[in-house]
Amino acid sequence: MQTLTDPQGRSFLYLRLSLTEACNYRCSYCLPDGYVADGKPKFLALDEIRRLVLAFSTLGMSKIRLTGGEPSLRKDLPGIIQTVAAVPGIKKIALTTNGCRLPHLVESWRESGLTALSVSLDSLNGTRFLAITGHNRFAEVVAGIDKALTLGFDAVKINVVLLRDRNDDELPAWLEYVREREVSVRFIELMRTGENRAYFERHHLRANLIEQQLHEGGWSLLPRAADAGPACEYAHQDYHGRIGIIAPYAKDFCAGCNRLRVTARGDLRLCLFGDFGIPLRQLLQSDADQDPLVSRIATQLGLKAAGHGLHQGLTGITPHLASIGG
Ligand code: SAM
Repeated sequence: MQTLTDPQGRSFLYLRLSLTEACNYRCSYCLPDGYVADGKPKFLALDEIRRLVLAFSTLGMSKIRLTGGEPSLRKDLPGIIQTVAAVPGIKKIALTTNGCRLPHLVESWRESGLTALSVSLDSLNGTRFLAITGHNRFAEVVAGIDKALTLGFDAVKINVVLLRDRNDDELPAWLEYVREREVSVRFIELMRTGENRAYFERHHLRANLIEQQLHEGGWSLLPRAADAGPACEYAHQDYHGRIGIIAPYAKDFCAGCNRLRVTARGDLRLCLFGDFGIPLRQLLQSDADQDPLVSRIATQLGLKAAGHGLHQGLTGITPHLASIGG
């Protein structure tokens, strides 16, 4: 079997596939004015997704994360999960969602073959949640997570974007939350994108403050699996859950990169903040194009940069993360 390795020796075991750019939330750091359709070609269809995932699995990838925009806005999401699960070699299928209508939907995703779930929940305070996301769905998201925890997923994770003066005092509440729940709560440092510069300057906060509090509280850093996401995960014997830190501004963050992205319109993106996309859609129209598709993906990896340019304020062609699949 082929494997995807770049000139820096990094192996790519993990694909993040965006299913849509649309989102029904108005997160203050991502789409504060809401999603506006641009009239460009539609998002990848089921057959295109199947061919794409087959090509990546031929290249040794066994883990796919479905993301967006908001993937649950696609009515055919259960069918997409089933299709991806049926591709030979795919062992793990994760989904990132904002959790809207989660209590109604999560069972059908699990039955379709979803193995792991990440839910965004930027605050444990409903009023703050509304202020950050523009939606009054706090109780629904929390109930959906509790339901997901009963369904036997390999992992249930919560994403919290760390925001100065918005939610940076909530670690004690999160520790109480994970005391009895087998869930991994990840604090993600706010990333600068093309459209959030002023917001970033007001609300970006380095996550090492959280790490320091974890060390002081007796939490220990766990070893990272080869196909794991970008989080440094901490555990503590008195808590069922874990706390993770995703710190894209940390030294050596990019050295551990093990993932590639494909946008909802079929462009391969080698980096979240890269300057270019590599169009694959043309090769997704027929099963007969599998060989050229595999070879196009494999030969482009040489173009992957050693690191992103976020420290220099370079955000590439990413206006916001909904456009690429966060
Ligand atoms: N709609 C889904 C959701 O809300 O989880 C999936 C897409 S969303 C872009 C994926 C994750 O990226 C969410 O956890 C979101 O909070 C996070 N995110 C979006 N913009 C971000 C930014 N500028 N910096 C850090 N995280 C961001």
